[in-house]
Amino acid sequence: MRDTFLPFSPPYIGDEEIAEVVDSLRSGWITTGPKTKRFEKEFAAYVGAPAALALSSCTAGLHTALVLGGIGPGDEVITTPITFTATVAVIEHTGARPVLVDVEPDTMNIDPRLVREAVTERTRAVMAVHYGGHPCDLDPLRDVCREHRLLLVEDAAHAVPAKYKGRFVGSGDNPVSFSFYATKNLTTAEGGMLTGSPAMIAQGVVVSLHGMDRDAWKRNDRTGSWRYDIVTPGFKYNMTDIQAAIGLQQLRRLEAMHARRRELVARYNAAFGDLDACELPVERPEVQHAWHLYPLRLRSERLAITRDAFIEELRARNIGTSVHFIPIHTFTYYRERYGYRPQDFPVALDCSEREISLPLHPGLSDRDADDVIEAVRGIIGENRA
Ligand SMILES: *Cc1c(COP(=O)(O)O)cnc(C)c1O
Repeated sequence: MRDTFLPFSPPYIGDEEIAEVVDSLRSGWITTGPKTKRFEKEFAAYVGAPAALALSSCTAGLHTALVLGGIGPGDEVITTPITFTATVAVIEHTGARPVLVDVEPDTMNIDPRLVREAVTERTRAVMAVHYGGHPCDLDPLRDVCREHRLLLVEDAAHAVPAKYKGRFVGSGDNPVSFSFYATKNLTTAEGGMLTGSPAMIAQGVVVSLHGMDRDAWKRNDRTGSWRYDIVTPGFKYNMTDIQAAIGLQQLRRLEAMHARRRELVARYNAAFGDLDACELPVERPEVQHAWHLYPLRLRSERLAITRDAFIEELRARNIGTSVHFIPIHTFTYYRERYGYRPQDFPVALDCSEREISLPLHPGLSDRDADDVIEAVRGIIGENRA
């Protein structure tokens, strides 16, 4: 057993990020400015996005996308119960009603056939989440959105660098929101990026910064002017140059960080492949998985230990883990507001109750991964049904 605690997902920050932040701090320009603009350009170029807007969070990007899509009271937005609360909360913020549908059992992503069945005359948008970094089945989702004139918003919090049928997630004209939260594949401590059509992003620039009509971030530089107009009551969702400084350097390491994630996944897969007491994450042939998470699902019928006790056993062996996610429909607010029962989404409920996310990050050494493997195999060995 290892003698120090292995954290689930620490940030992976190097001297380059530190130097870039210090450079911003010394430059006299610390909020939205030249580095934020450069980060947007470089991120857009990397994923092949038509345009990109750096924001304070992925949540901000999702909210901005819905507001720009004109989503409001009386509208319905179809989404998944297997996500972080932010995805669904922003639908509530617009006054629209989130309509949950169940997920596919292999990827835990929203099931496109159930999306089609859930469309009503009030449906305006579909919010798809690329769970763990495995892209949703986008073609059938795009088909149903095209047929019913719905906005497809993608929650890509886990999905850099992910590809669907050879194209990066975020390379289309529809709104796609990435997260640079501390635990995510690329971090700026807090931050996000909204990608989409140049027209949508141009509107996003206004809505995300107070509703100011033009280049608001230049107000305080020599080319700026004190004069501005307010064209809509906007939000305060801008990214700072200090965050962008971290992001610019993280982007340079992204390929290497992803390659390391893949190596670790291969190590886990090889070590767990023969265990009939657990189900391994899949990577469908038409995608590149971003491998944000390594979600192991226990086969409860083969084990004499609950998932929760399994997590405690891992903690006792100094292995940090997490669960992705507690299904949205089981939370007090959604239960009470919409009358959901746990069994309303049986696949989501079952997957979530059996899931444990193992440590997976570029700073994980082979030794660390082997400690995780030894712990998981040990607990299974001691607790067969
Ligand atoms: C982390 C996360 C978010 C929120 O990202 P922030 O950048 O913290 O706003 C949204 N959706 C999913 C699926 C996430 O995991």
